[in-house]
Amino acid sequence: MAVKPIIKINKLNVTYFKGRDNEIRSLKNVNLEIYPGEFVIFFGPSGCGKSTLLYAISGLETEIEGEIIVDGQDISSLKSRDLELFHQQKIGMIFQAYYLIGSLSVLKNVILPQVVNRHKSNKERKRRAMELLSEFGISREYNRYPSELSGGQQQRVAISRALVNDPDILLADEPVGNLDSKASEDVMKLFSRLNEEQKKTVILVTHNPSHLNMAHRVFFIKDGALVSVKKNRELGEKFVNKDAPDNSLEHPLTQDFRILQKAYPEFSADVAKPIFKNYKAREVIFEVFTGMTSDELSSLEKYVDKLLESGINDKEKMFHYLDENVKNGGLGLDKRTALKLTTKIKSIINEINELGLEGRGGDHISLEAMILKLNSYLTHEFKVKFKKAEARQRFEDRIRDRLEGKIKKEQFKMLINAAFSKGGVGIHIRKAKKISDRLELLLLGRQHNEN
Ligand code: ADP
Ligand code: MG
Repeated sequence: MAVKPIIKINKLNVTYFKGRDNEIRSLKNVNLEIYPGEFVIFFGPSGCGKSTLLYAISGLETEIEGEIIVDGQDISSLKSRDLELFHQQKIGMIFQAYYLIGSLSVLKNVILPQVVNRHKSNKERKRRAMELLSEFGISREYNRYPSELSGGQQQRVAISRALVNDPDILLADEPVGNLDSKASEDVMKLFSRLNEEQKKTVILVTHNPSHLNMAHRVFFIKDGALVSVKKNRELGEKFVNKDAPDNSLEHPLTQDFRILQKAYPEFSADVAKPIFKNYKAREVIFEVFTGMTSDELSSLEKYVDKLLESGINDKEKMFHYLDENVKNGGLGLDKRTALKLTTKIKSIINEINELGLEGRGGDHISLEAMILKLNSYLTHEFKVKFKKAEARQRFEDRIRDRLEGKIKKEQFKMLINAAFSKGGVGIHIRKAKKISDRLELLLLGRQHNEN
């Protein structure tokens, strides 16, 4: 390719607490090139090093080894004053938490970074700031304070601020992580527009799979290493926003998975194909959906167990747990993830209630009626196909056995998985596990409702 990369990274290592027992290798031997006018996404589970990589490119990361060449200049060789100038003139940064200055008006927030340009008069600075605010539809808010604005509006102010010195490169760290889906979509479109119309090089960090196809290329990161690169389209080729199908009636998990499959048809639930070969299927699915690590996940599982035992309808309480800092006994997720998870868990719990296993008005429905309901729900939900009528009967019988406590969860799973010729139902092990997990959840919900 004749075009020179605008960013070139050679053997980049970032290590915290080097040489101590708590040493963290945040980035391991990362090599990459990004071209002018590209829109790239850094994608990967939380803690994998996405932010570190972004900060390294921005010149803000200090613990680096290796070369980071931005616009022909090795930024690790820059002295602090030059680095500051480099950062202010070439790089625009946008963060999940906006980082606006609360005591300054919207206009002043956007004016502020221009002080590096001594040639500009105050009037010019103000004009430039207003120009951006109106471009992003927030000029009427110019005299208000950040806290008076919606999240989407605050992020637009932050984007205006990032653009005020007309940098070539925009770095955005989970910029829509705190926004609801409508505002997220609007802000993501803004990045696309800045890339297409103003030819900005955009590097965006996300763990939301629905964004992946907006980029020219996606860099997959895992445990500090760049594990693969996926090209969606050529540089210069336009991003076409195919209308999303109406998935509003689907279970949110299915919906997320659809999005992932649509973006990467080669990735299926059953087979983790090349692009995800370095991820374990379970991990990737959970981390893609939630941005959580396995440890966080097992902590969450324990908590949900507790909730199921002690009272499952407390959405507030669950949200606080997810949102609360780790040192206060919570999971320390960002608000939006916490909210998303709460909604997901809640929707499964709703299924329990909608199934009406406890009967209307608190009346207990008969065991047989309950078995019928569970049978048709599970068959339908997990698209179970019975090759023989006898298999259908066995499935029902195992549900009965489980409800009567004759078998445990593990046995239920094994019996519906066993081959038909061996007295089982012949359901694939993975599906059998999902069905038994869901059945347990439904049963827990029912026991709970009976109390
Ligand atoms: P991501 O953005 O993908 O969630 P990060 O780049 O923030 O991941 O973090 C990568 C790893 O480096 C994590 O283990 C994190 O705890 C660690 N880390 C990041 N910044 C620092 C720091 N300033 N000091 C010590 N460890 C850090
Ligand atoms: Mg991060």
